[in-house]
Amino acid sequence: MAKLTKLEDIVSLCKRRGFIFQSSEIYGGLASCYDYGPLGSELKRNVRNAWWKSTVQMRDDIVGLDCSIFMHPLVWKASGHADKFADIVTVCKKCNVRSRVDHLASAENKTADGLAGKVCPACGAVGQFTEPMPFRLMFETQMGANVDDSMTIFLRPETAQGIFVNFRNVLDTTRVKIPFGIAQIGKSFRNEVTTKAFIFRTREFEQAEIEFFCAPGTDEKWFEHWKEARFKWYTDLGIKKENLRLRPHEKDELAHYAKACVDVEYKFPFGSGDWQELEGIANRTDFDLRQHQRGMRTLNAWYEKKGDLSKIDLNSESEDYQKGPLSYFDEEAKQRFIPYVIEPSAGIDRSCLAFLVDAYDEDEVNGEKRGLLRFHPAIAPVKAAVFPLVKKDGMPEIARNIYDDIRKYFNCFYDEKSAVGRRYRRQDEAGTPFCITIDGQTKEDQTVTVRERDSMKQERINMSQVKQYLREKLDI
Ligand code: ATP
Repeated sequence: MAKLTKLEDIVSLCKRRGFIFQSSEIYGGLASCYDYGPLGSELKRNVRNAWWKSTVQMRDDIVGLDCSIFMHPLVWKASGHADKFADIVTVCKKCNVRSRVDHLASAENKTADGLAGKVCPACGAVGQFTEPMPFRLMFETQMGANVDDSMTIFLRPETAQGIFVNFRNVLDTTRVKIPFGIAQIGKSFRNEVTTKAFIFRTREFEQAEIEFFCAPGTDEKWFEHWKEARFKWYTDLGIKKENLRLRPHEKDELAHYAKACVDVEYKFPFGSGDWQELEGIANRTDFDLRQHQRGMRTLNAWYEKKGDLSKIDLNSESEDYQKGPLSYFDEEAKQRFIPYVIEPSAGIDRSCLAFLVDAYDEDEVNGEKRGLLRFHPAIAPVKAAVFPLVKKDGMPEIARNIYDDIRKYFNCFYDEKSAVGRRYRRQDEAGTPFCITIDGQTKEDQTVTVRERDSMKQERINMSQVKQYLREKLDI
């Protein structure tokens, strides 16, 4: 049977099975905000953990960080967000809906430059747009309880800046040496002009970012390294290769400071042309650290503390500049420089959507439709379900014992309600890779049935082996 990949099917499964709900649903919902339910919060945590494991736990050259969402307003001045973090938008004169200029499609047979041939996605009017204007994407709020001394601060639009402003702290308190990276997962906020496609583009979302610091001249090598490593992360977790690609940015797409950028794209079942960004990998040169050196200069705080460096002219490109507080001294090469940065920047929610879409499948069992999520075990919300075949003859007691034993190691689920076939189907739909059933034979020979989700094959193993069996099969 053909695989259904329509977004509506995913949304409906997510709602029905408690993966993802609309935020504030009982009050009519809040647009573009979503809550992860019992299965969804497990999925999301598993995706986060898989990212952390591969980037921090399994690497010698990356350390973790967890920064505050609120930051000093000068951070956003230095990073460029306060002045430039805006989408160029236009408003349809017919229906008053605001759209991002770069998201407008051309009307058929109209190839005119500018907005003359573009279609309003809300009402379909062609070429009825106001002059394009910047629209600031950062959310503002007030910090401080008193009216007089409260100040306007921003909800961070990316986690990266927390890493840059802690670069010196990490250098001074750990033994990292360049090349090394700092990784962080956390919430970011953008007042997006157009939100779309369920959890694909929302105004509150979670990012997983690495800033990988390296010596100028080695940046291209590390850029290649990260392209491969990040592509592999998705395929290792089960995303089909044919649904994933690396798309290099065209010259005119590149940010002015970026030397190169490539998007990891997934073939989502929506949008124009299907391929959509999952993650961006950019060679940001030394732009960010330089900007913050300049920013620190504005504030002067660091320079007051470290008088000896106060005479450095941070506004020039002079050699002196390289001696600033965010520079790095390479002991071996006896060289001081401002590190270059390779930034793989991923979205946890977008990844969850890609994992859901990619795992979604349907097949037929005894003439009946079976819906299932073929999740990789590492991200499956529930790793194993334990069932007594019937609710009598001591089976529930044995089942509970096994359940209590393995739940210490894996997220498991115990179910004794309804026919066993239905219990299997419910677990298939939740993406649970293994179901363990205790039946009449268990008491006689201490064996249980293990049923595998994808193949539906069953085998009997000794009940004392269940933990070890799952460990090996799940490989987690
Ligand atoms: P887009 O062009 O789709 O708006 P972007 O290029 O601005 O995205 P980045 O700033 O590179 O995105 O952010 C890095 C990653 O963070 C994206 O690849 C995506 O996975 C995630 N992300 C960014 N904005 C959102 C959002 N509004 N909702 C969900 N995830 C997001």
